[in-house]
Amino acid sequence: MPLPLTDRLALLRDAFPADVSGTVPLWVNGEWRKGTPGEEFACVDPTLGETLVPVASSTSDDIGAAVEAAKRAQRAWWDLDGQDRARVLRGIADGIRANAKALGTLDTLDAGRPIRDTVARDTERAARLFEFFAGTTDRLRGAFIPVQPGRSNTIEYEPIGIVGAITPWNYPLTNAAGKIAPALATGNAVILKPAEDSPLSALMLAWVAHRAGLPAGLLNVLNGPGPRVGDAMVRHPDIGKITFTGSTSVGRTIGALAGAELKSVTLELGGKTGFMVFADADLERAADALVFSAFNNAGQTCTAGSRLLVEERVAGDFLKLVSARIERIRIGDPLDPETQLGPAISSRHREQVLARMAEAEKAGLVPLATSCPQLPGHGFFLAPTVYVDVDPKLAVAQEEIFGPLVTVSTFRDEDEAIAIANGTPYGLATTAWTSDIFRARRISRRAQTGIVWLNTAHSLHPGSPYGGYKQSGLGLEMGEEAIRQHMRIKTVWSEDGPWQSPWASAPA
Ligand code: NAD
Repeated sequence: MPLPLTDRLALLRDAFPADVSGTVPLWVNGEWRKGTPGEEFACVDPTLGETLVPVASSTSDDIGAAVEAAKRAQRAWWDLDGQDRARVLRGIADGIRANAKALGTLDTLDAGRPIRDTVARDTERAARLFEFFAGTTDRLRGAFIPVQPGRSNTIEYEPIGIVGAITPWNYPLTNAAGKIAPALATGNAVILKPAEDSPLSALMLAWVAHRAGLPAGLLNVLNGPGPRVGDAMVRHPDIGKITFTGSTSVGRTIGALAGAELKSVTLELGGKTGFMVFADADLERAADALVFSAFNNAGQTCTAGSRLLVEERVAGDFLKLVSARIERIRIGDPLDPETQLGPAISSRHREQVLARMAEAEKAGLVPLATSCPQLPGHGFFLAPTVYVDVDPKLAVAQEEIFGPLVTVSTFRDEDEAIAIANGTPYGLATTAWTSDIFRARRISRRAQTGIVWLNTAHSLHPGSPYGGYKQSGLGLEMGEEAIRQHMRIKTVWSEDGPWQSPWASAPA
């Protein structure tokens, strides 16, 4: 039985750092800001399918207040010695660790992500993002360009000013941290709009950051619907950059608008990872990796191994290994530390995934028979589903579905495998399992994706740049590359002596 709603609400009240007996407030200028009566939306617990709390939805006044606060705070923040900014960022990392249980509980309650993942893994990852970017603040070096003798030219990096960050619901805390940390490290202020389906942990993160010494105004959290609040941020003339993670369709809209506004933009979008398994692979480990990759976070991961491409002659054996592992997945209340697979994020999303499954079955696909554990009779749970013998051109194998669904296609040789893997509009990640090191290298060179995982799955590090090719995005998050994307370049010229006008030496 899942924990009842009253106990879940008690957990939420204990975890959240402000009074949430009414509406969950916004965070603007280093303090809680009450929303406007009548402008709320429901924060729903996907495990029970019940409303937890109403959440304030930002109005244009709130956006204006956040922009003004950010403008006021940003100049002084950039004027600090980089090491002083780093000290604050390290303090935020410590604050995340000190509040790990509360931050993780909030993500488990409103996003349905298992507590075994949120409390330990996500909070540690968020803390390390701040630590990594803290280590970059005194490395924001420019350059000296050798120009004509007697003249100097330097390249200097400056912050953009205010960065608008828009995040999805699937990894609420780490998505927020991945946007906030590089923006603050580079001397910017941030206005963050979390997804409507998981509004809580970002607010708490802002509170943690403030307690760690982040000056008021540098981080503001504005909840609300994307087409209103997110759109207003993209259009706002004082927000100089948008960093967005979400679907390719919304990313395209934001990219077009940012283009019209001549605004810098980073887009981390959808994916459809081809997960190749060759006959010479360690099949047991590859099966562990596939099941984790595809069903972790209920398949709601942009890099989920949602397309299994397996060499024809081992396909039968490999699918038996996959089936056995699916039968062992522990599905249930994500607050239970044993649970591995929680619910889908919302009723709407569950219906969308079910509709895609129905379409696939109408097209003749049959799910692999596994005795998958029974689904709870409440909330938005979806059963892990594997379709075999799938034509890689079918919609279900081409489009991102973002649920616990895997299509299986077979290949005869490496060329065919790589052609199928590259054969979607997306280009986020490729995974390959093989014991042939030369083949692994060939695959990594031919993969049309920003990330390649060879005999591993979902490895990430704040120092490793992250981004997609093709319809999976534009620009990079994490790594040194993320630093440059939050800064502008200024070239500065000066003379070593009095300037001579070229006209002065012109013949009379
Ligand atoms: P989404 O695109 O529906 O929403 C993402 C965010 O954009 C939300 O905060 C939403 O409110 C906002 N938004 C919606 N319409 C907007 C508009 N017109 N203007 C401005 N903002 C708007 O995505 P989602 O359903 O929340 O998340 C799932 C998607 O995110 C998947 O496609 C997944 O692949 C992608 N994702 C990508 C990465 C990556 O790093 N590439 C990581 C996680 C998730």
